[in-house]
Formats: sequence, C-alpha cells, structure tokens
Amino acid sequence: MKGPLEKAPLESYVPPAKPSLVGLSRSELADKLGEIGVAPAQRKMRVQQLWHWMYVRGAQEFAEMSNVSKDMRAQLEQHFTVARPEVVAEQISNDGTRKWLLRLPGGNAGERAHEVECVYIPETDRGTLCVSSQVGCTLTCSFCHTGTQRLVRNLTSGEIAGQVMVARDRLNDWVDRETPTGSRLVTNVVMMGMGEPLYNFDAVRDALLIVSDNEGIGISRRRITLSTSGVVPNIARAGDEIGVMLAISLHAVRDDLRNELVPLNRKYPIEQLLDACRNYPGVSNSRRITFEYVMLKHVNDSMDDAKLLVKMLKGIPAKINLIPFNPWPGTKYECSDWDQIEKFSEYIFNAGYSSPVRTPRGRDILAACGQLKSETEKLSARERQALRAMAMTD
Ligand code: SAH
Ligand code: SF4
Repeated sequence: MKGPLEKAPLESYVPPAKPSLVGLSRSELADKLGEIGVAPAQRKMRVQQLWHWMYVRGAQEFAEMSNVSKDMRAQLEQHFTVARPEVVAEQISNDGTRKWLLRLPGGNAGERAHEVECVYIPETDRGTLCVSSQVGCTLTCSFCHTGTQRLVRNLTSGEIAGQVMVARDRLNDWVDRETPTGSRLVTNVVMMGMGEPLYNFDAVRDALLIVSDNEGIGISRRRITLSTSGVVPNIARAGDEIGVMLAISLHAVRDDLRNELVPLNRKYPIEQLLDACRNYPGVSNSRRITFEYVMLKHVNDSMDDAKLLVKMLKGIPAKINLIPFNPWPGTKYECSDWDQIEKFSEYIFNAGYSSPVRTPRGRDILAACGQLKSETEKLSARERQALRAMAMTD
C-alpha cells in the first residue's frame, strides 16, 4: 500500500508531457510501435509483451518490463508512458469504501485540469469498482448531484480503463502482488460513476474491452455492468459491441414523472426504452437487465407505482434494484421512509422479482450513488435549462 496522498491545488497541475499507452487497442498499440520504428515483423510480439506488463502485471514504468530488451525499453521511454490518471486524494470510509479523486488534463491545450471520482466498495463476496465515464454529465436528472455540474468533457478510453488500474495500484491488487485476502479485490465493475456512458460510447466500449480482456485485466463481462439513463439508440450497440450487463435508470413508471426526473425521457420515452430492453442482445433469464429505481419520498414511492412497475416489466428478464435516495446539499428531494421502502420492496418480491435494496455505502465520504461531483461551481437554473436543451437536440 502506498502512503497518504497530498492534494495540490488544481492550478498547479502539470499535464503529462508524453502520451500514455494505456487504453489503446492491440492494433492501435502496434501502430504506435510502428511510429517509433519497430519493424512490422516484431510488432505483434512487442504488443503481446506490453499488454501483459500493463494489464496483467500492472507495470507503472517501462523499466519493470524485464523481458523487453534494454534498447526497446529506452525507446519506449523516450516517447511514451504507461501512466494512469493521477490520484490526488484518497478517502477511506469507516465501512471500508474508498474514494479516489483523479486529476486529468483539460480537453484543450491550456485548459484547466479536470477531476473525476472513482469508488471501490468491498463486500463479503465481491469488490465493486464504480467507474466514471465523463467529467460531469449533460443530462441534468433532477435528483442527481453530478447533473448539477457543468459537462466538461468525455473521458478517453485510457482514462476509463485507467480507473480500474488505479484501483489495482492503490489496493495492491495486481496478479503477482500480495492482497490482504489472497484473492483479487476488484472483481466487479459498474459504470455508475459520473457521466452517461452511452453518450461516450466509443471510449467506454474500448475501455471495457480492455478491462474484460482475458489476457489482461480479465474481469468477465458478466461482472461488468453499464448503467444508462436510457440512450435508446446505443443500447443495442452496447449489447453487440461490448456484451456487458445492462442496468437502466428507470426511476419512474409514468412518462410525465420520468420527464421530470430523467429529462432524457422526453427524447426516448418509457415505451421505447422498454422495447430496447426486450431486444437487448444476449438478454435471458440468466442475464437479466437491472432496473434501478431511486426511492424519492412522496414522488415515486406509492404502492400504485410498485404495481405499475411490476406490470410494465412483464416479459423482460429483469431484476429491480431499489436505491435509497442519497441527499446532497440543496436538493429538493428526500429519501422515502424506511417502512415505505420495505413495503415497496415486498410487493416487488412477492411478484417474483429479486429486489435488493442497495445499502448506501461510504456515506461519510460522500461516495454514494449520485453524489459524485468534482470541484466545479453549481449551474444556474438557466444554464441547466440550456444544457438540457442541448442534450435533447443532438
Ligand atoms: N448516467 C448513468 C450512470 C451514472 S448514475 C445513469 O444515470 O444510469 C448511477 C445510478 O445512480 C443511476 O441509477 C442514477 O440514477 C443513480 N443516482 C443518481 N443520483 C442519485 C442519488 N442522489 N441517490 C441515489 N441514486 C442516485
Ligand atoms: Fe447523468 Fe446519470 Fe446523473 Fe442523470 S443520473 S445526471 S444521466 S449521471
């Protein structure tokens, strides 16, 4: 385990001078090697070596790559790095949850640095890493803290896969290192951090293909879940091109209410969303879609809502995940009463659905769902409206 981290001010951030090889596909890696003069006949072997060092062993320097010739290492060193996003702060909750604040270069030259968060949640039978796909989010869901932040930019595939690598670094969780339990700590990945993953499709796909690669990080696709607020046209693509488990942020069973909670619903209403779920490539009783439902007091938590929810999911292999609302400063919502959550959950359970209520984790370090938000000012009501309009028209 590394020592405590010192947080330097954003302004003093110096972006890396050389590009990182993290996040490139094998063929992109081969092209990079070509650019620095590696002969075509050698590239495949070199790619294999690099892949192994980066994604199985977690090497942080070319110097560690002992079976790569010294000359080759020097050449790589001159042009590239294997750097992941810089970790600027680490918080550890009293329940073992860890949150890392990561610093990234601004999108354009000279632009201020950005920050995103990534959270590790240990449980008895698994360890789940909650990964971000964007800095902020354009979608302004009314109950989500991330939605109050300016969208700054999409993350690159290296910055997304790099979050998993950062977690393995900080937890000492690479294959040949000693973990406290003797087995891997990060076993599952959920794209439920900041941002809408299906609005950053290519980077998310490329990153998840790296994370699930058998000869690399090796987290099975069945242990990776992509959560979307309902970008319908990209749902089928996610099944075809990535093949991970799908979670839908449903949160309401009537369009009028969902329009308010998840404004993207105006563009892709519930009916279309459920159709996309019915047709999700690979969906089956053993690969169910998770429907997330945030419990908002007197907003979406009546027994009529529960009944309609069960009715509308009929025919879709589904799990329902009830999430107690996590309040944040300035929100107008409250979490449903515990009694009500239990009644709601019991109804769903009796209708044949497993309906775990997600236990909020890491509350003391603001690491729970929808609370992730980095150091940017709050949007004014007018800016929120403009952003919402932009997201609706693209
Ligand atoms: N943008 C994607 C993934 C990130 S959000 C999506 O919306 O699905 C991950 C989950 O946390 C979503 O289901 C989201 O609706 C939920 N969420 C957001 N804010 C929350 C809050 N304050 N309390 C509880 N859940 C929240
Ligand atoms: Fe974006 Fe998801 Fe938050 Fe909605 S719930 S604002 S889509 S991160």
